[in-house]
Amino acid sequence: MDTAVALSLKDLKGVGPAIAEKLTRLGVHSPIDLLFHLPRSYQDRTRITPIGQLRQQVAAVVQAEVVQAKITFGKRRSLVVTVRDDSGVVNLRMFHFSRGQQAQFTPGKPIRFFGEPRRGPQGFEFVHPEYQVGNQVAPLEQSLTPIYPTVDGLTQAKLRDIIDQVLARSAHLELDELLAPPPGSMPLLQAVHTLHHPPVGTDIAQLTEGSHPALQRLVLEELVAHHLALKALRVRTQQHQSSPIALSDQADQGLMAQLPFSPTNAQSRVHTEIIDDLALTRPMMRLVQGDVGSGKTLVAARAIVQVIADGKQAAMMAPTEILAEQHFAAMSTWLSPLGYSLALLTGRTGAAERRAVNDGLLDGSIDLVVGTHALFQDSVQFKQLCLAVIDEQHRFGVEQRAKLREKGLPAGIYPHLLLMTATPIPRTLAMTFYADLDCSIIDELPPGRSPVNTVLIDQARRDEVVERIGVAVTENRQVYWVCTLIEESETLDLEAAEATTEYLRQQLPHVSIGLVHGKLTAQQKFEVMTAFKEGELDLLVATTVIEVGVDVPNASLMVIENPERLGLSQLHQLRGRVGRGAIASHCVLMYGSPLSQDSKHRLQVMRDTNDGFIIAEEDLKLRGSGDILGARQTGEVGFKLADLSRDMHLLNAVQQVGSSISDPVQINALIHRWIGNRVRYAQS
Ligand code: ADP
Ligand code: MG
Repeated sequence: MDTAVALSLKDLKGVGPAIAEKLTRLGVHSPIDLLFHLPRSYQDRTRITPIGQLRQQVAAVVQAEVVQAKITFGKRRSLVVTVRDDSGVVNLRMFHFSRGQQAQFTPGKPIRFFGEPRRGPQGFEFVHPEYQVGNQVAPLEQSLTPIYPTVDGLTQAKLRDIIDQVLARSAHLELDELLAPPPGSMPLLQAVHTLHHPPVGTDIAQLTEGSHPALQRLVLEELVAHHLALKALRVRTQQHQSSPIALSDQADQGLMAQLPFSPTNAQSRVHTEIIDDLALTRPMMRLVQGDVGSGKTLVAARAIVQVIADGKQAAMMAPTEILAEQHFAAMSTWLSPLGYSLALLTGRTGAAERRAVNDGLLDGSIDLVVGTHALFQDSVQFKQLCLAVIDEQHRFGVEQRAKLREKGLPAGIYPHLLLMTATPIPRTLAMTFYADLDCSIIDELPPGRSPVNTVLIDQARRDEVVERIGVAVTENRQVYWVCTLIEESETLDLEAAEATTEYLRQQLPHVSIGLVHGKLTAQQKFEVMTAFKEGELDLLVATTVIEVGVDVPNASLMVIENPERLGLSQLHQLRGRVGRGAIASHCVLMYGSPLSQDSKHRLQVMRDTNDGFIIAEEDLKLRGSGDILGARQTGEVGFKLADLSRDMHLLNAVQQVGSSISDPVQINALIHRWIGNRVRYAQS
């Protein structure tokens, strides 16, 4: 037992400082880490594949006989060795070869080779396969051959050898079962062995697609570890000291009295949840989810007023300049009459202005700063930052949120944190991956909004759509036209958008048209968006960079080209740009036909509901949670094995297993095993 505990990388044969350093680069710090360093793919060297059964790009071992070896002069000089077995003939091609090598391939000699067949000039060919000529060949493998993720200078063979040494001793390692997996799942040690050396006959596709029970066993454990890490984070955060806010009804009434509307019930409920938190001595960690247009900004403003009325400072952060400006405008309208002092800080803020803002924040004369990432700068310091509001929170990383929080620390305070998102997070997902946060939901839209009427139209009817735009503009309405990616290419995206703009300008000569896309600078984007907001442009052509949360109430028609290329949540966000005023709004999903069954179903969901939660649930079923979790799981605390688009079905089990573990030692061991040093969750 003692020796087992003491086993370290240095004890493995062939691991010197140089190799150890390479392992570190792979994130491997201990023998146990090696066990969790899983293959990214497998080769089947357990059996011989007849030439007649070769499949393109499926690596195989072939046993054959040399027919001939010839040097050919195509584009490049190469040695082509033709071989055959009972089922067919195939070529091996070598671009680099010696005379001696060439001489080996005498007709009639047995040859065994391994490689990946590709299409050549005459059927399949193997380029530089591994081969052995003659009767002396290495025996077939007993299990599938693992191919590991590696770094330069660390060969597969070396890595395999090191990992095999650990596997051979794994019974002595402290690879304890840390959780009680659901009945029927594979024991941990067996799962690890299976993944490193899948037995003959294992379905490689099942392994690489991740549905194999051995992988699922580990994924479950990893998800549980992340879930528990968040729960632990919650406990830690609650031990920090925040600055409890002395609540003021009067201040709230001062704000509310100015509004031309009353809050919705949902806004009031969430407001109460927030101020209850603000009054506590532990920092608030609250996520407000509310569909686009549900009025999150006001809810934030009410919290901010409480903080300022108590003589403290607040910061509000948005992911883009246009949004920051918009929030600043809203906050100024609401808070300036109350005598509060506000500042805006973005990438566009000039140096002198910036200095003034920094001074004001430090001496406390500025009560609220609204800004973009510019707020993270070290030069931005507060006298007493007690509340940080982060809008569209999924656009920020854990790290960035942590940075904003740290701004309260000089005053010895953990600021209250209010996160806001318009992307609804389905319940199971929220319970699992927002376990560190309290959630509030604004599940009601202000009255008088007419729901967006969504229609599906085939691109073949583009002319009709353009005509309809012409009519809308004569009625003084504004229109968005969204071009979607052809592939993940900004350039193609841009070309398509430019072509579309040109086309629309020709078709609609009396309409003033602007274009906004990802290649513009922040300043240029801002100018185009502002022109649209102020009504100087009737029609805005945009790539999907179109700003989240921008409020242009007069925009009442949106055309989305090729909506089938986007996720439903993203479509819903886009659609949320219209339907913000009282006029009836329309969204035209102009699809390219033919649509797959799947796409048709998805677009019908969009047409049939405006409810962000239903859409998010649907999206999750179809595409996984990538869009929804955003930076949360894709940054420095990404998963090693789990892929939520594949593993969503495990979330209920994660909940169950997670709540069945209560031993802190066990919990820590689990977190350490899967997250280890990457626990930046700690400060988020
Ligand atoms: P989101 O939740 O998408 O951020 P906003 O906060 O931008 O929504 O609100 C959208 C619009 O609704 C704004 O013009 C805002 O002033 C208005 N609004 C907010 N609350 C109410 C309400 N209770 N009644 C009427 N209009 C409201
Ligand atoms: Mg908003």
